[in-house]
Amino acid sequence: MNPPVRGGGVILGPQGPEPSEAGRFGEFGGRFVPETLIAALEELENEFRAAWHDDAFRSEFSDLLGSYAGRPTPVTECHRLSDKLGVRVLLKREDLTHTGSHKINNVLGQALLTRRMGKGRVIAETGAGQHGVATATAAALFGLECTVFMGAVDVERQALNVWRMRLLGAEVIPVTSGSATLKDAVNDAMREWVASVETTHYCLGSVMGPHPFPWMVREFQRVVGDEAREQCRSILDGGDPDYVVACIGGGSNAMGTFAGFVDLKDTALVGVEAAGLGLETGKHGAAVNRGVPGYVHGMRSLFLQDEHGQVLEAHSISAGLDYPGIGPEHAALAASGRARYESATDDEAVSGFVLLSSTEGIVPALEPAHAIGWLERAVGDTIPSGSTVLVTLSGRGDKDAAQIAERLGSL
Ligand SMILES: *Cc1c(COP(=O)(O)O)cnc(C)c1O
Repeated sequence: MNPPVRGGGVILGPQGPEPSEAGRFGEFGGRFVPETLIAALEELENEFRAAWHDDAFRSEFSDLLGSYAGRPTPVTECHRLSDKLGVRVLLKREDLTHTGSHKINNVLGQALLTRRMGKGRVIAETGAGQHGVATATAAALFGLECTVFMGAVDVERQALNVWRMRLLGAEVIPVTSGSATLKDAVNDAMREWVASVETTHYCLGSVMGPHPFPWMVREFQRVVGDEAREQCRSILDGGDPDYVVACIGGGSNAMGTFAGFVDLKDTALVGVEAAGLGLETGKHGAAVNRGVPGYVHGMRSLFLQDEHGQVLEAHSISAGLDYPGIGPEHAALAASGRARYESATDDEAVSGFVLLSSTEGIVPALEPAHAIGWLERAVGDTIPSGSTVLVTLSGRGDKDAAQIAERLGSL
């Protein structure tokens, strides 16, 4: 373990624990990929491990997080929201980063690693385009070639993000296989990686996929939790929050947040999944609440599947939570009981979106609005009044304002 590194004003805490040698978190994780990718994943694992223990790499990462991404982000105490809900609410403000979400932390780390490995190109998958835009941003900053795979349906739905990626210099490839959405884009990105692995790094967007991605992405995101733990202590006179809550798509903002608190046995960890139209409707993204174990996208984890093991389409009002699986470390945290996984419907997320905007002047992205919406329901039920709750506000809501305006009509 290296001592903390300071650069650009951002302190990186010590490295977190590695999964088992086989890349397992309990029974989940691992590396279930075509033979042709094994060598690339082993190379990536070794390069990442070396980089992550190299002070020069860490201080460059720290500098970038400070001077480019705008870290550290503050923790904001929400007085009016707290009065309204009857719990003390603190928000970790990832919405204030450059590009407006936590995704920038991961892509900067992976871009640095790409350069260190001597590769000149990154590829990425994207659903609504948010990870694609983040990857294209880092690629522009580092002068890397960038190709983004995106379901053809999503290319149609997210024209502005497609334009933005192209503005940043990325090539966007519409994927027409399967249902032409995110899970198909992941498949094509993996296929392309097999074909170009000598020159290309696959910049995966969440704590998922084959080992070492779930571990590596958690480590690049742990700055969120490490910062928040210290910031909470200064706000809470040395105390820790009773609950730490984050929304779950693949699980990277939640895993980065949880990493800072997982050793505090008195702090409960809560992930909030997308319940979509309702858990009983089949139209949701609740992989822990309604998924079963399977092997998809290179990992053993929990996925929404039919009785034949076919992966089902997820549904959520928010594009970032519209993924039918979850990262393997979350599956393990759920199995061990260290974290619990709740859910919020589309309607509850909209309610959270309006509530936070109107009480605090902070317009959240629809993804973390699920965490606020769930909290609204849970206080006095599973969350005792008077508790202290840290919520990770993973992104800002500008991208969602038009969609909510259309849904709600005039206010
Ligand atoms: C992409 C995204 C998410 C979901 O991804 P995770 O890997 O689960 O964090 C959540 N919030 C925002 C704002 C996003 O852009």
